[in-house]
Amino acid sequence: MIRLPNDDNCCGWYDVLPSPDDPVRLQGDQKADYIVIGAGFAGLSAARRLGELKPEARIALIDAQRIGEGASGRNSGFVIDLPHKFALEHPDTSHKLKLLNLNRTAIAMLEHWVRKYGIYCQWSPAGKYQAAVGSRGEAFLDHFETLLQALGEPYRNVANRELSSVLGTDYYQRAIYTSGSYLMQPAALVRGLAESLPENIDVYEQSPVHRIEKAGWHSAGKTHWKISGENGSLSSPNILLATSIFTREFGYLKNRMLPVMTFASWTRPLTDSEMECYNGQLDWGLTPADHAGTTVRMTADRRLIVRNTYQHVPSYGASVSDQLRTKVKANHRQAFEARYPALRDVPFTHTWGGTYAISRNFTNFFGQLDEGVYATACDNGVGAAWGTISGTLLADFAIGADSALLEDIRQVTGMPSLNPPEPLLGIGVKTRIRLAKWQSRSEI
Ligand SMILES: Cc1cc2nc3c(=O)[nH]c(=O)nc-3n(C[C@H](O)[C@H](O)[C@H](O)COP(=O)(O)OP(=O)(O)OC[C@H]3O[C@@H](n4cnc5c(N)ncnc54)[C@H](O)[C@@H]3O)c2cc1C
Repeated sequence: MIRLPNDDNCCGWYDVLPSPDDPVRLQGDQKADYIVIGAGFAGLSAARRLGELKPEARIALIDAQRIGEGASGRNSGFVIDLPHKFALEHPDTSHKLKLLNLNRTAIAMLEHWVRKYGIYCQWSPAGKYQAAVGSRGEAFLDHFETLLQALGEPYRNVANRELSSVLGTDYYQRAIYTSGSYLMQPAALVRGLAESLPENIDVYEQSPVHRIEKAGWHSAGKTHWKISGENGSLSSPNILLATSIFTREFGYLKNRMLPVMTFASWTRPLTDSEMECYNGQLDWGLTPADHAGTTVRMTADRRLIVRNTYQHVPSYGASVSDQLRTKVKANHRQAFEARYPALRDVPFTHTWGGTYAISRNFTNFFGQLDEGVYATACDNGVGAAWGTISGTLLADFAIGADSALLEDIRQVTGMPSLNPPEPLLGIGVKTRIRLAKWQSRSEI
């Protein structure tokens, strides 16, 4: 028995969308030229690319949930160009420039699809504030500034007064603004991407894959794979796994990725009088200078969002008790009221969590796992851009296409390092998360 995604049904981004049409589920025994498992940013991009490059092929895209219910539809909606914290520390500048170029290519692709297919998802070139509350955060910002300078990346220091006129709070001392990140409504974006896929792609939702097995030989002498769900199966010589942390459930990259959850809450849209109390702008996004701090966003439609708290979740969503959810909501409330005391009466309408994969050496996996089995996995928590580009290039890799970007992604990815065995792993991760939370208490 494998463990399946187990996301809550409390995600605000998904809940405000119109109800989708009934899903098509996998039924009966079928064949495809390519099977893509997982319909987040990575799987949607992989399927689209296969559909475009192989218009005569039959491509099946299959997900355990409705599209938009997984991590890709429940994140904070930042599409980030700069390599994230640890990747930015990499000693090799050309490595970082490759990551930057890959992420920016992903952003350009997403923007192209948003415009071409008229996907209404609050897509916005808003950039990003990386902000410090106190001296600990300031030290992180100073270091960030040095890294940006070494990369030759433009940025702007934003002092408290200017910052508070944007954010509607004087909680932060300083921020560094970079202009290359975009904001979006994640559930709306992934649903729009799914609805605009090429016609030769069959999308199966609410069709969890329970098993992948070898089922003989394909006519071309290649291994034939069979994937099985509750009511049907698909066989194909080619499987692309875009299943993030769940890849380990199929026996691949076992003990190399850590399942981590983080959580978000948002308010209803502020009323006109609440907007007067708020006294800031719409449509901005802020990430914490100290990684363990709080992400904050004001949407274009007047909702304030906070995201913080990390949890190691060996059984994914099933690891989260009601007690933990209550505690997370209290953490969010505290962060919200510290920043917006005048809005203390504005309730949260939704609090949700989502699971993603990190590796101890902060390395993304991209490549082949078995004959005809390819994967992109271990997004390290910034998968909107990364999933988009790695999924696209995984399709290129699977069909044997060649490009400079494919060469680049192969150079900047590798093997996530092995984890220590349980219970050492669980104890170690919990201790590390607790320590980071304690050290960052002044920035949360
Ligand atoms: C609260 C939160 C905030 C975040 N904020 C940001 C952010 O602002 N910017 C950013 O870039 N990233 C953010 N992230 C991380 C981001 O969401 C992920 O990195 C990204 O979604 C990974 O995309 P993916 O396509 O690789 O994987 P996923 O989106 O996890 O997709 C994997 C899919 O595989 C499916 N699947 C798994 N197992 C099976 C199975 N057995 N059978 C069939 N289907 C299966 C799942 O249902 C899922 O839909 C955040 C995450 C969370 C939880």
